[in-house]
Amino acid sequence: MTKKIFTSICTARVAVFLAASVLAIGVLYDYFSRQQQQQIKVQTALASRGIAAKGREFFDEIDTGEYRVTWIAPDGRVLFDTRGDQAKMENHLDREEVKEAMEKGSGQSLRYSSTLTKKLFYCAQQLPDGSVVRLSVSQYTVLMLIAGIIKPLALGAVFAAGLLFFMARHLSTQIVKPLNEIDFDRPAHAVPYEEIKPFLNKIENQQSQLRNDRQELEKLETIRQEFTANVSHELKTPLHSIAGYAELLKNGLVKPEDVQPFAQKIYSESMRMSNLVNDIIDLSHLDTGAKDMRFEETDLYLIAQNAADSLSRIADAAGVEIQIRGQSAKMRGIPQLLYGVIYNLCDNGVKYNRRGGKVWVNVENGRDTVTLTVADNGIGIPQKDKDRVFERFYRVDKSRSKAVGGTGLGLSIVKHSAIIHNASLSLDSAPGKGSKFTIVFPKTEKQG
Ligand code: ADP
Repeated sequence: MTKKIFTSICTARVAVFLAASVLAIGVLYDYFSRQQQQQIKVQTALASRGIAAKGREFFDEIDTGEYRVTWIAPDGRVLFDTRGDQAKMENHLDREEVKEAMEKGSGQSLRYSSTLTKKLFYCAQQLPDGSVVRLSVSQYTVLMLIAGIIKPLALGAVFAAGLLFFMARHLSTQIVKPLNEIDFDRPAHAVPYEEIKPFLNKIENQQSQLRNDRQELEKLETIRQEFTANVSHELKTPLHSIAGYAELLKNGLVKPEDVQPFAQKIYSESMRMSNLVNDIIDLSHLDTGAKDMRFEETDLYLIAQNAADSLSRIADAAGVEIQIRGQSAKMRGIPQLLYGVIYNLCDNGVKYNRRGGKVWVNVENGRDTVTLTVADNGIGIPQKDKDRVFERFYRVDKSRSKAVGGTGLGLSIVKHSAIIHNASLSLDSAPGKGSKFTIVFPKTEKQG
């Protein structure tokens, strides 16, 4: 970049230098030519007066300097020439300036020498006796002028080139230096040039995006590691007790009347494992976006009835009543997931309740939304745990959850299913009074 700026500065300045030189030479040349022409006219007028007054004697008294003076008779013969070879000179009647002077009283012309390096300017004037006085002066051509000043010009150019080299080098490093000093961790923090601000802003945005992505990835990685550790732990516990009971049975160390309760323990522990494995499979399926599941026209009210029916036996056993309210509510959704949501919420409402408790499921058909509420008058959730209950394996009371066959994954499944449906999920709860989960689904499918 420094090199490019350096070359640009040099090119621009050399171009300006050349243009200025050409212009200066042109203007000067034009000015001097005019001056010379003006002077020759004055000199011709003076000479014609002198010759008119004194005739040939005029030439004896005067030094004509750079001017050549020729006196021509009315018939074109050269009467006198300051070069002194008038006898040999041909008739001058055909000379342009002489012809013009004979006709109009005065005349001028400009002729190049045979070598083209000199330009001769002629000025003629007629005297009262009909003869003509002509003065000529040689003018340098542009080429000669350049040849004349080439040496100082070259010297000047060498000096200018040297100066230019150092200035351009200094300038280009000055321009590039702030760019090298940009802090790319915070590029838009100190912008050296206004012009590159959008560019730096873009980099800054991309960097913060990258930082966010990295944080997100780290967070996901931690969640994944925690999840793996939790899953192993959760599976190990029932597996240990199954193995323990089975070993006792295998070694015949169990009294006959204890065989049945031991078998029951093995059965319930394996059911717990089975539930856990099912929940893990569901969750990892949701984690990958449940891509194989299709949105279809569903009725949330019907799904709620199905879920409640499936739970009726468990609810009866717990002495909890599930009531469904509301009306048919059509919406675009994934039936399996919606069923899972209502089933998990109702199951919790039953599990974390007391005998004689109630669970109310309400489906409200709005204009653009369908609102599902699952409320219970159970044990409730303390304020500090309200946000965390949706985390994987988070339980308010671990032993109670285990006692009722909980896996700690039910509400995570609910939350993920709500996200896939673009629904909002909220929880109201008060310990000892009960809990109320509200999910508002958009009726139309708005997949991200
Ligand atoms: P679990 O399998 O333990 O029920 P969830 O993810 O479904 O796991 O719930 C997480 C925790 O939130 C539960 O262990 C329980 O402590 C609490 N919780 C969930 N639903 C309710 C509810 N309706 N009433 C009281 N506590 C609840």
